[in-house]
Amino acid sequence: QFGENRYFLTGDDLKSLHLTFNRFSHKGDYGKVLLIGGSKGKVGAVLLASKAALRTGSGLVFALVPEDERLILQIGAPEVILANQDEIKGLQIFDALGVGPGWGQEIDISFYESLLKRYHKPLVIDADGLNLLSAHPRLIELVPNGSILTPHIKEFERMTGKVDHHLDRLQKARDFSEKHNVYLVLKGQFTSITCPDGRQFFNSSGNQYMATAGSGDVLTGMVTSFLGQGYPPLNAALCAVYHHGLAGELASETRLRGTIAGDIIESIPASFLKLGI
Ligand code: AMP
Ligand code: MG
Repeated sequence: QFGENRYFLTGDDLKSLHLTFNRFSHKGDYGKVLLIGGSKGKVGAVLLASKAALRTGSGLVFALVPEDERLILQIGAPEVILANQDEIKGLQIFDALGVGPGWGQEIDISFYESLLKRYHKPLVIDADGLNLLSAHPRLIELVPNGSILTPHIKEFERMTGKVDHHLDRLQKARDFSEKHNVYLVLKGQFTSITCPDGRQFFNSSGNQYMATAGSGDVLTGMVTSFLGQGYPPLNAALCAVYHHGLAGELASETRLRGTIAGDIIESIPASFLKLGI
Protein backbone atom coordinates (compact mmCIF):
# COMPACT_ATOMS: atom_id res chain seq x y z
CA GLN A 1 0.00 0.00 0.00
CA PHE A 2 2.90 2.30 0.77
CA GLY A 3 3.85 1.99 -2.88
CA GLU A 4 6.94 1.78 -5.01
CA ASN A 5 9.76 4.28 -4.70
CA ARG A 6 8.41 5.57 -1.40
CA TYR A 7 10.57 5.85 1.71
CA PHE A 8 10.10 6.70 5.35
CA LEU A 9 12.62 9.30 6.56
CA THR A 10 14.15 8.72 10.00
CA GLY A 11 16.96 10.32 11.99
CA ASP A 12 19.30 7.44 11.10
CA ASP A 13 18.90 8.13 7.37
CA LEU A 14 19.85 11.70 7.97
CA LYS A 15 23.14 11.57 9.83
CA SER A 16 25.36 10.76 6.86
CA LEU A 17 23.90 13.61 4.80
CA HIS A 18 25.41 16.41 6.87
CA LEU A 19 28.49 18.40 5.96
CA THR A 20 30.91 19.12 8.78
CA PHE A 21 32.13 22.43 10.18
CA ASN A 22 35.88 22.94 9.97
CA ARG A 23 38.09 24.42 12.68
CA PHE A 24 39.89 26.56 10.05
CA SER A 25 36.80 27.96 8.39
CA HIS A 26 35.30 31.41 8.06
CA LYS A 27 31.73 32.58 7.60
CA GLY A 28 32.04 32.53 3.79
CA ASP A 29 32.42 28.75 3.95
CA TYR A 30 28.90 28.27 5.28
CA GLY A 31 26.93 30.00 2.61
CA LYS A 32 25.71 33.44 1.81
CA VAL A 33 21.93 33.31 1.51
CA LEU A 34 19.29 35.87 0.63
CA LEU A 35 15.69 35.78 1.81
CA ILE A 36 13.18 37.81 -0.18
CA GLY A 37 9.69 38.59 1.05
CA GLY A 38 7.79 40.66 3.54
CA SER A 39 5.08 43.26 3.10
CA LYS A 40 3.28 45.65 5.41
CA GLY A 41 2.29 43.69 8.51
CA LYS A 42 3.97 40.49 7.31
CA VAL A 43 7.66 41.18 7.61
CA GLY A 44 7.76 38.81 10.57
CA ALA A 45 7.75 35.93 8.10
CA VAL A 46 11.13 37.04 6.72
CA LEU A 47 12.43 37.64 10.22
CA LEU A 48 11.55 34.08 11.21
CA ALA A 49 13.06 32.61 8.05
CA SER A 50 16.25 34.66 8.50
CA LYS A 51 16.70 33.64 12.11
CA ALA A 52 16.05 30.01 11.22
CA ALA A 53 18.74 30.20 8.52
CA LEU A 54 21.23 31.54 11.05
CA ARG A 55 20.37 28.83 13.59
CA THR A 56 20.77 26.21 10.86
CA GLY A 57 24.34 27.31 10.33
CA SER A 58 24.41 29.87 7.51
CA GLY A 59 27.49 32.08 7.64
CA LEU A 60 25.83 35.16 6.16
CA VAL A 61 22.12 35.87 5.94
CA PHE A 62 20.83 38.75 3.85
CA ALA A 63 17.20 39.84 3.61
CA LEU A 64 15.39 41.94 1.05
CA VAL A 65 12.16 43.49 2.33
CA PRO A 66 10.19 46.62 1.36
CA GLU A 67 11.86 49.89 2.34
CA ASP A 68 9.39 50.66 5.14
CA GLU A 69 9.91 47.29 6.80
CA ARG A 70 13.70 47.32 6.97
CA LEU A 71 13.98 48.72 10.47
CA ILE A 72 11.70 46.08 11.95
CA LEU A 73 13.88 43.38 10.50
CA GLN A 74 17.12 44.98 11.62
CA ILE A 75 15.87 45.37 15.18
CA GLY A 76 14.39 41.89 15.23
CA ALA A 77 17.63 40.25 14.10
CA PRO A 78 20.81 42.34 14.26
CA GLU A 79 22.76 39.46 12.69
CA VAL A 80 20.86 39.82 9.41
CA ILE A 81 22.20 42.11 6.68
CA LEU A 82 19.67 44.20 4.78
CA ALA A 83 19.97 43.93 1.02
CA ASN A 84 18.60 46.57 -1.31
CA GLN A 85 16.85 46.23 -4.62
CA ASP A 86 19.96 47.30 -6.61
CA GLU A 87 21.97 44.39 -5.24
CA ILE A 88 19.57 42.11 -7.06
CA LYS A 89 21.66 42.72 -10.17
CA GLY A 90 24.46 40.84 -8.47
CA LEU A 91 22.27 37.95 -7.42
CA GLN A 92 24.80 35.31 -8.45
CA ILE A 93 26.94 36.07 -5.39
CA PHE A 94 24.34 34.33 -3.25
CA ASP A 95 24.70 30.60 -2.70
CA ALA A 96 20.96 30.23 -2.20
CA LEU A 97 17.77 32.26 -2.33
CA GLY A 98 14.56 31.79 -0.34
CA VAL A 99 11.65 33.57 -1.95
CA GLY A 100 8.13 34.29 -0.78
CA PRO A 101 7.58 34.47 3.01
CA GLY A 102 5.10 37.26 3.78
CA TRP A 103 5.52 38.69 0.29
CA GLY A 104 1.81 39.38 -0.32
CA GLN A 105 0.12 39.30 -3.71
CA GLU A 106 0.70 42.95 -4.53
CA ILE A 107 4.34 42.82 -5.53
CA ASP A 108 5.67 44.02 -8.86
CA ILE A 109 5.46 40.82 -10.87
CA SER A 110 8.17 42.00 -13.29
CA PHE A 111 10.56 42.02 -10.34
CA TYR A 112 9.76 38.36 -9.62
CA GLU A 113 10.14 37.55 -13.29
CA SER A 114 13.56 39.20 -13.57
CA LEU A 115 14.65 37.47 -10.38
CA LEU A 116 13.79 34.07 -11.86
CA LYS A 117 15.53 35.00 -15.11
CA ARG A 118 18.70 36.24 -13.44
CA TYR A 119 19.28 33.50 -10.89
CA HIS A 120 20.35 30.20 -12.33
CA LYS A 121 20.99 28.04 -9.26
CA PRO A 122 18.25 26.12 -7.46
CA LEU A 123 16.21 28.32 -5.16
CA VAL A 124 13.61 27.83 -2.47
CA ILE A 125 10.07 29.08 -3.10
CA ASP A 126 7.37 29.23 -0.45
CA ALA A 127 4.12 30.95 0.51
CA ASP A 128 3.28 33.97 -1.69
CA GLY A 129 6.18 33.05 -3.96
CA LEU A 130 4.07 29.96 -4.78
CA ASN A 131 0.74 31.79 -4.83
CA LEU A 132 2.19 34.17 -7.41
CA LEU A 133 3.24 31.20 -9.55
CA SER A 134 -0.38 30.02 -9.41
CA ALA A 135 -1.64 33.47 -10.38
CA HIS A 136 0.94 33.81 -13.20
CA PRO A 137 1.48 30.27 -14.50
CA ARG A 138 3.96 31.37 -17.21
CA LEU A 139 6.47 32.07 -14.41
CA ILE A 140 6.78 28.41 -13.48
CA GLU A 141 8.74 27.83 -16.70
CA LEU A 142 11.39 30.23 -15.40
CA VAL A 143 11.98 28.41 -12.10
CA PRO A 144 15.54 27.01 -12.17
CA ASN A 145 15.95 23.22 -12.37
CA GLY A 146 16.42 21.56 -9.02
CA SER A 147 14.62 24.30 -7.09
CA ILE A 148 12.71 23.36 -3.94
CA LEU A 149 9.04 24.34 -3.65
CA THR A 150 7.46 24.07 -0.20
CA PRO A 151 3.66 24.38 -0.44
CA HIS A 152 1.21 23.38 2.24
CA ILE A 153 -1.79 21.54 0.85
CA LYS A 154 -3.81 24.65 0.03
CA GLU A 155 -0.91 26.28 -1.78
CA PHE A 156 -0.33 23.07 -3.72
CA GLU A 157 -3.99 22.87 -4.68
CA ARG A 158 -3.84 26.45 -5.92
CA MET A 159 -1.06 25.35 -8.24
CA THR A 160 -2.44 22.04 -9.44
CA GLY A 161 -6.15 21.89 -8.60
CA LYS A 162 -8.17 20.18 -5.91
CA VAL A 163 -8.13 16.45 -5.26
CA ASP A 164 -10.24 14.35 -2.94
CA HIS A 165 -7.82 11.64 -2.00
CA HIS A 166 -4.40 11.95 -0.47
CA LEU A 167 -2.93 9.33 -2.84
CA ASP A 168 -4.14 11.35 -5.83
CA ARG A 169 -2.37 14.36 -4.41
CA LEU A 170 0.83 12.37 -4.08
CA GLN A 171 0.53 11.37 -7.72
CA LYS A 172 0.01 15.02 -8.66
CA ALA A 173 3.12 15.89 -6.70
CA ARG A 174 5.07 13.37 -8.80
CA ASP A 175 3.67 14.70 -12.05
CA PHE A 176 4.44 18.28 -11.05
CA SER A 177 7.92 17.53 -9.83
CA GLU A 178 8.82 15.59 -12.98
CA LYS A 179 7.26 18.11 -15.36
CA HIS A 180 9.01 21.14 -13.88
CA ASN A 181 12.17 19.40 -12.67
CA VAL A 182 11.81 20.65 -9.10
CA TYR A 183 11.73 19.09 -5.64
CA LEU A 184 8.36 19.38 -4.04
CA VAL A 185 7.99 19.52 -0.27
CA LEU A 186 4.31 18.99 0.46
CA LYS A 187 3.86 20.16 4.04
CA GLY A 188 1.56 18.82 6.71
CA GLN A 189 1.64 15.86 9.06
CA PHE A 190 4.13 13.42 7.44
CA THR A 191 5.45 16.04 5.04
CA SER A 192 6.46 14.41 1.74
CA ILE A 193 9.45 15.27 -0.38
CA THR A 194 9.02 14.37 -4.04
CA CYS A 195 11.95 14.17 -6.48
CA PRO A 196 11.83 14.78 -10.24
CA ASP A 197 12.72 11.08 -10.68
CA GLY A 198 9.59 10.03 -8.77
CA ARG A 199 11.08 9.07 -5.40
CA GLN A 200 9.00 10.17 -2.45
CA PHE A 201 10.22 10.53 1.13
CA PHE A 202 7.87 10.79 4.10
CA ASN A 203 9.04 12.61 7.19
CA SER A 204 8.66 10.93 10.56
CA SER A 205 9.41 13.89 12.83
CA GLY A 206 7.14 16.70 14.00
CA ASN A 207 3.82 16.97 15.80
CA GLN A 208 0.53 18.83 15.99
CA TYR A 209 1.97 21.63 18.09
CA MET A 210 3.78 22.83 14.97
CA ALA A 211 0.45 23.88 13.51
CA THR A 212 1.09 27.51 14.38
CA ALA A 213 1.67 30.77 12.50
CA GLY A 214 5.15 31.11 11.08
CA SER A 215 6.03 27.43 11.35
CA GLY A 216 6.41 27.16 7.57
CA ASP A 217 8.55 30.29 7.39
CA VAL A 218 11.00 28.62 9.76
CA LEU A 219 11.23 25.66 7.36
CA THR A 220 11.89 28.01 4.42
CA GLY A 221 14.86 29.51 6.26
CA MET A 222 16.20 26.06 7.09
CA VAL A 223 15.99 24.69 3.54
CA THR A 224 17.60 27.87 2.17
CA SER A 225 20.35 27.59 4.75
CA PHE A 226 21.26 23.98 3.93
CA LEU A 227 21.16 24.73 0.22
CA GLY A 228 23.47 27.71 0.75
CA GLN A 229 25.87 25.56 2.77
CA GLY A 230 26.36 23.41 -0.30
CA TYR A 231 23.94 20.53 0.30
CA PRO A 232 22.50 19.10 -2.92
CA PRO A 233 18.82 20.15 -3.16
CA LEU A 234 17.44 16.77 -2.12
CA ASN A 235 19.68 16.57 0.95
CA ALA A 236 18.88 20.18 1.83
CA ALA A 237 15.16 19.36 1.72
CA LEU A 238 15.51 16.11 3.69
CA CYS A 239 17.72 17.64 6.40
CA ALA A 240 15.57 20.75 6.76
CA VAL A 241 12.28 18.88 6.93
CA TYR A 242 13.55 16.35 9.45
CA HIS A 243 15.30 18.86 11.74
CA HIS A 244 12.35 21.24 11.53
CA GLY A 245 10.10 18.46 12.79
CA LEU A 246 12.51 17.35 15.49
CA ALA A 247 13.05 20.95 16.62
CA GLY A 248 9.27 21.25 16.85
CA GLU A 249 9.06 18.11 18.99
CA LEU A 250 11.79 19.36 21.31
CA ALA A 251 10.30 22.86 21.55
CA SER A 252 6.87 21.46 22.39
CA GLU A 253 8.07 19.05 25.09
CA THR A 254 7.59 21.72 27.73
CA ARG A 255 5.23 24.03 25.84
CA LEU A 256 2.66 21.77 24.20
CA ARG A 257 -0.05 23.91 22.57
CA GLY A 258 1.81 27.04 23.65
CA THR A 259 4.62 26.36 21.16
CA ILE A 260 5.24 29.23 18.74
CA ALA A 261 7.40 29.46 15.62
CA GLY A 262 10.19 31.30 17.44
CA ASP A 263 10.46 28.34 19.85
CA ILE A 264 11.02 25.99 16.92
CA ILE A 265 13.92 28.20 15.78
CA GLU A 266 15.48 28.18 19.25
CA SER A 267 15.31 24.37 19.28
CA ILE A 268 17.11 23.85 15.96
CA PRO A 269 20.51 23.51 17.69
CA ALA A 270 19.01 20.97 20.11
CA SER A 271 17.89 18.94 17.12
CA PHE A 272 21.46 18.79 15.78
CA LEU A 273 22.65 17.86 19.25
CA LYS A 274 20.11 15.05 19.49
CA LEU A 275 21.34 13.48 16.25
CA GLY A 276 24.95 14.05 17.26
CA ILE A 277 25.72 16.37 14.36
P1 AMP B 1 2.81 26.59 7.06
O1 AMP B 1 1.42 26.12 6.87
O2 AMP B 1 3.43 27.13 5.81
O3 AMP B 1 2.99 27.54 8.22
O4 AMP B 1 3.68 25.32 7.43
C1 AMP B 1 3.38 24.61 8.60
C2 AMP B 1 4.56 23.75 9.01
O5 AMP B 1 4.23 23.08 10.22
C3 AMP B 1 4.89 22.67 7.99
O6 AMP B 1 6.28 22.42 7.98
C4 AMP B 1 4.13 21.46 8.54
O7 AMP B 1 4.73 20.25 8.16
C5 AMP B 1 4.19 21.68 10.02
N1 AMP B 1 2.98 21.12 10.65
C6 AMP B 1 1.77 21.70 10.72
N2 AMP B 1 0.88 20.88 11.31
C7 AMP B 1 1.55 19.74 11.62
C8 AMP B 1 1.18 18.49 12.24
N3 AMP B 1 -0.08 18.26 12.67
N4 AMP B 1 2.14 17.54 12.38
C9 AMP B 1 3.39 17.77 11.96
N5 AMP B 1 3.81 18.92 11.36
C10 AMP B 1 2.89 19.89 11.18
MG1 MG C 1 3.42 29.06 5.00
